[in-house]
Amino acid sequence: MEKLTSPYKWGMVIDLDRCTGCGACVVACQAENNVGICDKKEISEGRGMHWLRIERYWVGEYPDVRVRFLPVMCQHCQDAPCEPVCPVYASYHNPDGLNGQVYNRCVGTRYCGNNCPYAVRVFNFYQHEWPKPLDSQLSPDITVRSRGVMEKCTFCIQRIRRAKEEAKEEGRQVRDGEVQPACAQTCPSEAMVFGNLADPRSRVSILSRSPRRFQLLEHLGTHPSVFYLKGGGREHV
Ligand code: SF4
Repeated sequence: MEKLTSPYKWGMVIDLDRCTGCGACVVACQAENNVGICDKKEISEGRGMHWLRIERYWVGEYPDVRVRFLPVMCQHCQDAPCEPVCPVYASYHNPDGLNGQVYNRCVGTRYCGNNCPYAVRVFNFYQHEWPKPLDSQLSPDITVRSRGVMEKCTFCIQRIRRAKEEAKEEGRQVRDGEVQPACAQTCPSEAMVFGNLADPRSRVSILSRSPRRFQLLEHLGTHPSVFYLKGGGREHV
């Protein structure tokens, strides 16, 4: 565990029992973060740009087969494999425990994407355009990335920054539940809970200690900041 230099350590818990696979979180993320719009050809070439994907898999034997969904975004690992391989330090760790990406430093070697076991980094192979009137929806808080730049989920860092600045002006810390990434805000079944893992009383901290908790590829020792709660059913008993 790294030495904390901030009162915040942002993290997320995703309850797989609640996720219905609706995909609203994926669309919210795309709209919030100026994520490039890809056409059918680009998607078929594996050049999709989503920062968040919904994995789908089946459990059980026919006829008792059930579908399960697993939302996967950057896991904001505390020992992130993407960070030491970047030759220009574009991928770095911030004091709040987030894995950041400095777009104007990225030179596009894609070492980080290749070293990420979760395959959550996406590379801009094309110069994306937003046809009118979609260009009006671009957020001024976020850089519009250009061709040759690697990007990924930031936990909507623009929202975190705004909440921190407002809290600082009022001489307090960010309250539990005060800031949410677009995906968590949009999820109709409230499957995603975001908050400060450094606060043991926050909702996300309490859920992260649930007996149902697990992390993706835990054996790799990346120490993600995203926790999952196992779905129910016989296969998980
Ligand atoms: S919005 Fe919520 S329920 Fe829908 S796919 Fe995302 S996490 Fe699952």
